[in-house]
Amino acid sequence: MLILMEQTATLEQIQAVMAVLEGAGIRAYVQESPVSTSILAPHASQALKADRIEPMGGVARVVPITSPFKLASADGAPGRTVVEVRGVAVGGRELAVMAGPCGVESREQLFTVARYVAESGVKLLRAGAFKPRTSPYAFQGMGTEALSLLEAVRREFDLGIVTEATEVETFDEVERTADLIQLGARNMQNFALLKRAGRSEKPVLLKRGPAATLEEWLFAAEYVLSEGNRNVILCERGIRTWSQHARNTLDVSVIPAVRQLTHLPVIADPSHATGRRDLVIPCARAAVAAGADGLIVETHCSPDQALSDGPQALLPSDLVQMLDQVQKIREVLTQGGPVF
Ligand code: PEP
Ligand code: MN
Repeated sequence: MLILMEQTATLEQIQAVMAVLEGAGIRAYVQESPVSTSILAPHASQALKADRIEPMGGVARVVPITSPFKLASADGAPGRTVVEVRGVAVGGRELAVMAGPCGVESREQLFTVARYVAESGVKLLRAGAFKPRTSPYAFQGMGTEALSLLEAVRREFDLGIVTEATEVETFDEVERTADLIQLGARNMQNFALLKRAGRSEKPVLLKRGPAATLEEWLFAAEYVLSEGNRNVILCERGIRTWSQHARNTLDVSVIPAVRQLTHLPVIADPSHATGRRDLVIPCARAAVAAGADGLIVETHCSPDQALSDGPQALLPSDLVQMLDQVQKIREVLTQGGPVF
C-alpha cells in the first residue's frame, strides 16, 4: 500500500505510522517529494487493513498498489526517479550519455578513447574490466588490472566510470572502482548478483536480458530495489528475434511501454542492439525519439584491432555526429516540459 500523508503531517505522525507498520513486520520506506510525503509499504495489505492506518493523524489517504512491481512501479512513486552518477543526472531533462570501448584492452587504448570521449562532452566512460563472453576462448577482460586503469583514467579526465560486475565473487572489487555498476544482459536473472547489487551504495545499470519480457526485466529490477538500493537505471540493449541482418533487435516500443510502468530511468544501448556500426546512429536516434533518458554506446580508436565488439564500435567522428543529432531530438521532445 501507499500511504499519502497530509502536507501538514508532522515528523511524529510519520513516525507513528512507521511504528505501526514495523510492529506488523512490514518493511516500509518514507518518500519525500517537494510537495508531499508518502510511505511506501510493499505487500502491507497482506498483514494489515487500510482502515488501521487511515484514521491515524496526518494520514490523507491509503492507496493500494496493484502492480506486482511494488518498488519499481510508477504507481507508488512520487514522480520520476533521477539517478545521479558522479554529477550526471540520469532521468532528468538532459540526455545522459555513456560512451567508451567494450573492454579495457591496454593503458594506451583506454586513455586514447577516454580523451576523445571527454573532449566530445560526454561525462561517463563505459569500459568492461570483466567481460561476459559467449565463447570461453574469447577475450575475458583484463580484470583487476583494468580496474586500476579505470581509476587512473577517472583522475586524468574527470570521467565517471561505468563498468560491469559479472559475478558475486568479484563484485566488491568492481564496486570500489565503478561510479555505475553495470549488470549485463546475460546476468539479468542472476538473482545472487542482483541481490548483492541491491546491497550496494553505488547505482546500478540493469540491462534487459536478450529474451526477457518487460515483466521479467522489472522483476529483476525489483530484486535490486527490494534489497535497499533505489538507484536503478534500466537499459534496453536489443532482444533475440529471427532477424538476421543485425546482432539483436532494438525493441524501440519497450521504451515508452516500460516508462509507463516504472518511475526508473530507461536508457538504450544501440551498439549491442545492432552489432553494426552503420546501424548504431539511426537506432540511437530512434531510442531517443521514443523517450529514452540516455544512451550507452561503444566507441574505439581503432575498431579493427579491438579485442571485442569492434564491428559495432563508433569512430570518434561518429560519436560527435551522434551526440549532435540525439541532442537535437531531445530538445524537440523536452521543449514543452518533461518527456510525458
Ligand atoms: C557490454 O556492455 O559490453 C555487454 C557485454 O553488454 P550486454 O550485457 O548488453 O551484452
Ligand atoms: Mn560490448
